[in-house]
Amino acid sequence: DQHRIIMDETAIRRALTRIAHEIVEKNKGFDNCLLVGIRTRGIYLAQRIAERIREIEGLPVEVNELDITLYRDDRRQAGQPAADTAAAAVASSEAKSVPVQVEDKIVILFDDVLYTGRTIRAAMDALMDCGRPQSIQLAVLVDRGHRELPIRPDYVGKNVPTSKQEQIVVSLLEVDEEDQVTIIH
Ligand code: 5GP
Ligand code: MG
Repeated sequence: DQHRIIMDETAIRRALTRIAHEIVEKNKGFDNCLLVGIRTRGIYLAQRIAERIREIEGLPVEVNELDITLYRDDRRQAGQPAADTAAAAVASSEAKSVPVQVEDKIVILFDDVLYTGRTIRAAMDALMDCGRPQSIQLAVLVDRGHRELPIRPDYVGKNVPTSKQEQIVVSLLEVDEEDQVTIIH
């Protein structure tokens, strides 16, 4: 298998700084906004963005966490109704005692890679079970295409056209000891 670097440490740092500025520009500040990271790498990306927004706006910025790993619709056990997807995801968020107060908030979801869109759909279900957000926005480090649902990101680190056989590997300092995005084919 061939590895090709598509983002190095500097590219990741610059992309996250740009996205932090795009978020405060689009939302005219950060009032009423809520950052929600999707389990593992989305959480670290959200934390890095939070740090930058703190510097830009001079406000405390929290990160909420969402774990939907086991509840994506196409990984669910046969016969389990779709409604369970959101309920289970919310429960998992509460189990970590991270209540997601979405009511009237601009919720900004973070994930590392956007592919079919099914994970984000499950995340939106989970959030909307918590209340009625004013709106939901999506930020991803890499958009690799192949959407199967009408979902598009508001903030993108890098668009990387891929074949379905290729895989993006996102390594982040917090868990992988380096910051790097590669593609394997
Ligand atoms: P989707 O639900 O949009 O099909 O896939 C997105 C989710 O699966 C994300 O949480 C992402 O972490 C993971 N994912 C999908 N494709 C890739 C990929 O090529 N590389 C990595 N690192 N994660 C992927
Ligand atoms: Mg993921």
